[in-house]
Amino acid sequence: MAEKTNQKICPQRKKCGGCQLQNMSYAEQLSFKQGKVIKLLGKFHRVNKIIGMEQPYHYRNKVQWAFGTTRGGKLISGIFQSSSHRIVAVDTCLLEDEKADEIIVSIRKLLPSFKLTAYNEDTHRGFLRHVLVKRGFQSGEIMVVLVGGTNIFPRKKDFVKALLKKHPEITTIVFNINDKKTSLLLGERQEVLYGEGKITEELLGCRFRISSKSFYQINPQQTQILYTKALEFADLKPSDVLLDAYCGIGTIGLIAAKHVKSVIGVELNCEAVRDARENAKLNGIKNAAFYCADAGEFMLRRKAEGQAADVVIMDPPRAGASKQFLHCLIQAAPERVVYISCNPETQKRDLFYLVKNGYKVKKIQPVDMFPHTEYVETVVLMSKVKK
Ligand code: SAH
Repeated sequence: MAEKTNQKICPQRKKCGGCQLQNMSYAEQLSFKQGKVIKLLGKFHRVNKIIGMEQPYHYRNKVQWAFGTTRGGKLISGIFQSSSHRIVAVDTCLLEDEKADEIIVSIRKLLPSFKLTAYNEDTHRGFLRHVLVKRGFQSGEIMVVLVGGTNIFPRKKDFVKALLKKHPEITTIVFNINDKKTSLLLGERQEVLYGEGKITEELLGCRFRISSKSFYQINPQQTQILYTKALEFADLKPSDVLLDAYCGIGTIGLIAAKHVKSVIGVELNCEAVRDARENAKLNGIKNAAFYCADAGEFMLRRKAEGQAADVVIMDPPRAGASKQFLHCLIQAAPERVVYISCNPETQKRDLFYLVKNGYKVKKIQPVDMFPHTEYVETVVLMSKVKK
């Protein structure tokens, strides 16, 4: 683990507020997170030691910066302050992929020579709102998404040429148009300016196509560890039907597919479901089916149709699972439930409900997916209590 002597301090940490734990050494951060998980989940079971990173810096493979202009008219780019909508101007961030940061700085430097400005949210004038960069950790492929506040992008071909000259490592460039008053980063319309508009990433023996909008875990190294733990806990058998609930682009289910009879994935975001189906094809996986639905509603429907699952892996958003989902889960009565969570508070609530209704917590594993921030991820194995 990183010792205090290796600790890097960000000069913007107070202004930015994104790294809540930067005043602690990495070892202290890990024990802080371990303590937090024990406090919340310790009464269910003993908590395994948190798995941290060897090099807890520059782990974010998805980087998004905002563009703006200072009162003095200077073009800036950086990160939104966590407490406000102000841009903290930075050239690098200790959490982010260094190549991604480098590319965004190059874009900022290129803008004036193309007479392109930053978009102003109040006046609706100007051009560039954000830049999003996604980089495949294994594949090295890089996607750059330029988010404009208007669809007018003069000399875009020349701009792309100039950017590629500076960074030939970029594999695709997308122009996204977001002319709405919104805190959402991306607008609906987009145009691929170079390459395929997607990158391919590899994870635990599978390949995944990632588009500008699809959700993908932001710390690829720790994701491998997290998923490996989840699959180890799931103890999959060739006869198992696996339900991957809140499946995103299908990563967990597709990695598990070769170990089970079949995989059923459910996810609310239909675009992610399309990606999941495409990813199944890309990997030649035929025993996985993905559905676009609310996970709770889907469980209810399956129950009505009398369909069961042997193992459920669930990975809900920060709000946790719905009551309906948990209720139907109990009725479906899978042998094992693996609950991945990015919020131990809601996980505690959900575990409590499952424990009251016939399940027992067997293992708890925290993983540090987001060093220097206050967030902690946990994988919990539950099994059905034998009557
Ligand atoms: N397991 C995936 C995604 C986890 S993020 C991975 O590891 O990559 C949580 C996912 O839950 C998101 O993709 C989100 O779109 C989805 N989601 C949120 N609410 C949902 C609901 N009510 N029903 C189904 N999926 C939901």
